[in-house]
Amino acid sequence: MTKDYYKILGITEFESQDAIKNAYRKLARKWHPDIAGNSEDVIIRFKEINEAYEILSNKIKKEEYDRARRFYSYATSNENKFKSEPPKEEKKSFAFSGFNWKKAEQKPIPKRGEDIYSDIELSVFEAAAGTTKTVNMLQTQLCPKCGGRKFINGSICKACNGKGEFTNYKKFTVKIPAGIKDKSKIRLAGEGSAGINGGVNGDMYITVHIQEPKTYKTDGLNILKTIPITPYEAVLGAEIKICTIKGCISVKINPNTQNGQKIRLAGCGIVQNNKVGDMIVTVEIKIPKQLSDEEISLYKKLAEISTENIRDHLYEN
Ligand SMILES: [Zn+2]
Repeated sequence: MTKDYYKILGITEFESQDAIKNAYRKLARKWHPDIAGNSEDVIIRFKEINEAYEILSNKIKKEEYDRARRFYSYATSNENKFKSEPPKEEKKSFAFSGFNWKKAEQKPIPKRGEDIYSDIELSVFEAAAGTTKTVNMLQTQLCPKCGGRKFINGSICKACNGKGEFTNYKKFTVKIPAGIKDKSKIRLAGEGSAGINGGVNGDMYITVHIQEPKTYKTDGLNILKTIPITPYEAVLGAEIKICTIKGCISVKINPNTQNGQKIRLAGCGIVQNNKVGDMIVTVEIKIPKQLSDEEISLYKKLAEISTENIRDHLYEN
């Protein structure tokens, strides 16, 4: 019991699963080697954070860990007492049993490797159409020289300096199936940390986060977008450039187009399960902010010669 997983995540042991998850996600982002750099300190810290979350987010593992942690702190506080005061016979036997317990845990039994967790961000298009992403993950591998035993013929393994394992970056190509939902988990079996003493490897879990689109909305497979046009484009008609997921195309604006009018660009929506949506453009007439004197005088001229009063029928029943 050398690591305090609660301390690593900066929380108390009475925190909810949500709080544990939040603490983990904040720290995992902050200490991700892509962000915090590639130093050994960062890698160790990042590994510890993942290790802490792997234990504390799993009900059974957490209970086991909490029990061991309480027992350990009890045994340690008793051991400390013996240092300052002469031991009584009764206490001595307890301390001894604590020692036995720790010894028993170190027996070389096969242990499954830890699961590791990562996140991946996808755009709405990527999630709908499916894609392939590369993820750079820290992975623990057994030392090939000593096979994780840390010692060779009684002396410390020189290849791993007695650590028994190596932590390295590994690139994974992750296939994202079309139509994947937000918060889905992709499991890469056996790609977690290496098993110990012949135990099987852990798995890797990648949680998908679908980003909220910022520049458009969606309605099922349709993509909705508002496009501004000028008053003269609305009156005279125009050819304007509109960018879709298929690329930018030239779109005809008819003469006399009204504000709020919709244009459907067939087949330019989201592709999913062999179906394809449309892009629906809503036209918004916008007046350019900086009008020149000449433009203003032309608008004045327009006002003078205008024949139709568009508010004529406003109050008729
Ligand atoms: Zn080694």
